[in-house]
Amino acid sequence: MANLTRRGFALGTLATGLMGQEKERPITSVSVPGDPAAPTVSGGTLAESVPFGAKVEFKRDDIVPKVWPFPMTSVRLLPGVFEDAQQANRQFLYEQTPDRLLHVFRLNAGIASSAQALGGWEKPDCELRGHFVGHYLSACALSYSSTGDKELKARGDYLVAELAKCQQRLPGGYLSAFPTEYFDRLSARKEVWAPFYTVHKIMAGMLDMHEHCGNAQALTVLNGMADWADGWSGALSEEHMQTVLDTEYGGMGETLYSLTALSGDERFARTGDRFIKKRFFNPLALRRDELRGLHVNTHIPQVIAAARRYEISSDPRFQDVAEYFWETVTGSRTYVTGGTSNNEGWLVSPNRLAAELKLGDATNECCCSYNMLKLTRKLYEWNPDPRLFDFYERALFNHRLGTINSDGQTQYYLGVVPGSWRAFATKYDSFWCCTGTGTEEHAKLNNSIYFHDADGIFVNLFIASELHWAERNFRLRQETAFPEEGRTTLVVDAEQPVHLTLRVRIPQWASRANVKINGKLSDVSAASGSYLAIARTWTKGDRVEVDLPMSLHSEWMADDHSLRAFLYGPLVLAGKLGREGLTPALEIGPEGPQIGKAPAIEIPQFAANNKRLEEWIKPGDRPLTFKTSGQSVNVALEPFYKVNGERYSLYWKVS
Ligand SMILES: [Zn+2]
Repeated sequence: MANLTRRGFALGTLATGLMGQEKERPITSVSVPGDPAAPTVSGGTLAESVPFGAKVEFKRDDIVPKVWPFPMTSVRLLPGVFEDAQQANRQFLYEQTPDRLLHVFRLNAGIASSAQALGGWEKPDCELRGHFVGHYLSACALSYSSTGDKELKARGDYLVAELAKCQQRLPGGYLSAFPTEYFDRLSARKEVWAPFYTVHKIMAGMLDMHEHCGNAQALTVLNGMADWADGWSGALSEEHMQTVLDTEYGGMGETLYSLTALSGDERFARTGDRFIKKRFFNPLALRRDELRGLHVNTHIPQVIAAARRYEISSDPRFQDVAEYFWETVTGSRTYVTGGTSNNEGWLVSPNRLAAELKLGDATNECCCSYNMLKLTRKLYEWNPDPRLFDFYERALFNHRLGTINSDGQTQYYLGVVPGSWRAFATKYDSFWCCTGTGTEEHAKLNNSIYFHDADGIFVNLFIASELHWAERNFRLRQETAFPEEGRTTLVVDAEQPVHLTLRVRIPQWASRANVKINGKLSDVSAASGSYLAIARTWTKGDRVEVDLPMSLHSEWMADDHSLRAFLYGPLVLAGKLGREGLTPALEIGPEGPQIGKAPAIEIPQFAANNKRLEEWIKPGDRPLTFKTSGQSVNVALEPFYKVNGERYSLYWKVS
């Protein structure tokens, strides 16, 4: 690899085993030293009777979801921390120049380009070049849907038209910023970074430009790319293709299945089926966690593809894969922030995160949270369990919020090793995978607040916003400063009275919820972790006020009960530990908190002495702030999403 990045290093590390001695071993079967619970048998050895043993046949049979999200055009964010993040992201998108983005594509297609080359992973000699352009198309399309931003739609339209010109000069529908020779290497199992991963981003960008901006040319380009992928993968035996799947390939299956859903042409779904990595899916379908040693962000998109496959085939094996994967990752492999991964891998057996924390400091790759949120939404459409949104809220407020700064720069790793800090990308010289998913994430912050079924509306997230349900001629405005305040108010605006059920999620962290309807305390109630359902005929001006009192609580590591994190309501609290050793070079540009490059600092330890948290963690002088008291070293605590520019800890030794 021309440019050795942290990510490249991490991939190489996983690919060759952490001892660096097992060069031939694929990343799906690494062994990780130091964990006696390591499985001794990896993939590829399962009997034929397993769920994905025989040939997988596609047959179209769509499921009927139980709930649907509203179109993003129906929900607008109102002023608040999420709208700030959305705006910062748009600023970042404006600052990118289309002709600079196109430079590597034009060169690859033999079209003259005098634009200044971008740096980082878009550099003309980086093997992932072009990937960010796919994300950029998606981000422009999503921003148009979520805000009506015509300038970004025009940017996306221009890129589609110019990329189509590149495609016309390349063979058989192929479109990329690197030559097909990368795919020759992929087929020959020679070293190459991730060509299908990159192509997938461009395909997904085209699909988004078609879906959100009505760009017909984007669909034509996408069909050409899908034809090319069909031809390339169809020329390989299944056995050969299964070895190709050892190299990261993003969400190829997801986009191909979506194309079948869109066009009705089942050929694309059959192409998608060639991207089913059977030895990854088999244990999951049997409800076995054999994730240890896998590269995390290589595999979550494969599960999203499984979810999409289930949606258009009703094949329950794919549902099993998606649901069990979600259970085990969120239940036993997720840090308190809602993020997962360390050194980009799952390095330990389930429920051994305290051990994993000692194996690396590059935790919580942001792409992984982006993809877990995407998967969560899908599962929710099949089964609207509020528990899914307890996770969604955890990851959204504690991982995603805070990983974008006011300039629109995003993070790669979100450090949870004590003494970490936030490190952000540069504007033109980073373009990591997480820059791409970050710019998509912050363009779609309005897409999961509300869902609906035939009866009414589900309010899942407490984010200041307006919903317009056009079919029912019903508007709902959510007025809240959440999480600065533990309450939200829903205000109805309807020309005519409308009968429907309003379901408000009562989070797990809320011990009780008081509800007032039009100023009067209501006797409707719901337990935490369920929906508060109010069925009535709503008229203009009706108000529902929901109080969701937050309180202090703690969570501990399953394999070390003395290692604790503190939360207030849904918010993870970070202890502020000063700026010792931090320099601009450590905060802007590196791919994560490079802990080895800053001096080690003392992480205070606490003695709880069997006291309740409230007895030794006292409110600070501003809302949502706290301070420990009576400890040998006392620490100020704040919601993690607000902590930037200093070192912090989320986990503490508590005796
Ligand atoms: Zn990433």
